[in-house]
Amino acid sequence: MPLYEYVCQGCGTRFEVLQRVGAGASEATCPKCGGREVAKQYSTFASAMAGAAGSGSLPCGASSASSCGSGGFS
Ligand SMILES: [Zn+2]
Repeated sequence: MPLYEYVCQGCGTRFEVLQRVGAGASEATCPKCGGREVAKQYSTFASAMAGAAGSGSLPCGASSASSCGSGGFS
């Protein structure tokens, strides 16, 4: 289950909520003031996964351009 990060628009408190995929911000409330005016931030879980995936393989053409299809310079 992904971890979402929110910032309360009322008091500025930053907090994290474990939610189902696709759950809206309406299900998140500020733990400090109980406000429902919250803004979703980028998920730390998602960014961590993206970073791990990106470091594993080189982009096409970085090390062996000849194996990345033919006619690249037609
Ligand atoms: Zn608040």
